[in-house]
Amino acid sequence: MENYIRNLEELDKKHFLHPTSPIQQQQTDGPGFIFTKGEGVILEDIKGNRVIDAMSSLWNVNIGHGREEIGQVAMEQMSKLAFNSCFSTYSNEPAIRLAAKLAKIAPGDLTATFFTSGGSESNDTAYKLARHYWILKGQPDKIKIITRTRSYHGVAMGATSATGLKPFRDFTNSLAPDFYYVDHFSAYGLRELIESEGPETIAAFVAEPVQGAGGVHIAPQDYFKEVREICDEYGILFITDEVITGFGRTGAYFGMEHYGVAPDMMCFAKGVTSGYAQLGGVMISEKMHQDFKELSTGTLLHGYTYSGHAMACSVALKNLEIIERENLVENAKQMGTEMLAGFKKLQSKHSIIGEVRALGLMGAIEVVRDPLTNERFAAPLAPVIVAEAAKRGVVARAVVFDGQDTIVFAPPLIITADELGQMMDILSETLTAVEDAQKIVRG
Ligand code: PLP
Repeated sequence: MENYIRNLEELDKKHFLHPTSPIQQQQTDGPGFIFTKGEGVILEDIKGNRVIDAMSSLWNVNIGHGREEIGQVAMEQMSKLAFNSCFSTYSNEPAIRLAAKLAKIAPGDLTATFFTSGGSESNDTAYKLARHYWILKGQPDKIKIITRTRSYHGVAMGATSATGLKPFRDFTNSLAPDFYYVDHFSAYGLRELIESEGPETIAAFVAEPVQGAGGVHIAPQDYFKEVREICDEYGILFITDEVITGFGRTGAYFGMEHYGVAPDMMCFAKGVTSGYAQLGGVMISEKMHQDFKELSTGTLLHGYTYSGHAMACSVALKNLEIIERENLVENAKQMGTEMLAGFKKLQSKHSIIGEVRALGLMGAIEVVRDPLTNERFAAPLAPVIVAEAAKRGVVARAVVFDGQDTIVFAPPLIITADELGQMMDILSETLTAVEDAQKIVRG
């Protein structure tokens, strides 16, 4: 077995260029975990190590791992019809039923869905549909997309350009034009930017209801109401990116429900299938849909091969059925309160924990040298804590962009109070070990 594993590790180093990965470390250390099994909140690797997946892998495995009934549905659909083109007027039943289901559960009057294979494609689609919309409305100069600092919208060219986290944009040296950035919590900043650029040049404003990859930042309560008003006042489309926050993550079906605001367009992915199949999409309002239908004369020249993939849509339908049957949105709300209480306990026991925050099962703890002044360590400690926690059985994620030193969490929506308790115990042990190693006094 040892040789078998060593061989896999060598093949990984040689042939697998990992996404969003420390490429040199991968070359020296090889893969940290080769996962072979998942059950509930637990992932198991090829060596038999079991860890709590406190990130739902990539914020997406909402219903937890190892659901046989999803496998069953996928197999049945694949055996009947895995895929057909949905270009032109071709269709299939799972895509139709999923679009209809989404229209029922989505906020406001979002009633029509364009399907993609994931979040990045959804974002690029939203920006293109927004611009196309303004062409149809006779305002072709409305091309600019305003986005927020600390935002993450994916890695396709439009999504990268929209991402407020600069290192993602600096990865390449030529971006899509016409993206503008505004402070993530300042509605006033948005108004100022619209005024200075000219509303007649702006197509849309895009925002995550809770910023995820940027460090789990929760907007002030009145922020999105003001944003909605500003977009209406200046005739700008408001796009929400619910790729992480959709389908229960924050203790509401969609994150924007916390703010009582409905967008004109909504991107989704991840939790729509809980990662069991690759699927995303963009929903548009009834009004936009009507306008598209009335004003378009030619072909809607935007479509991915896998838009409306039958197997992926059937998986999504089963996933949504499970979320509802098991009351997982409510569980996310209740367990979110538990998780925040757990973070507060960690904060009281460990002086290196500064601010803690959560909305449903999306949370963060900040690492500080001095909790009174919020002074940071010279070199971020979150990556060290995350690496140590993984050794002890909890997989979380460090965020160090923008001078942050933060650990983020997004456990599956099925997590129980007992499992959260285990997660907190392991985190506390880890923090104690790191504090001891750094010679930090606790209290
Ligand atoms: N939008 C948000 C808010 C995300 O968090 C992500 C991925 O983490 C994306 C878009 C990109 O999604 P994908 O990785 O499926 O392309």
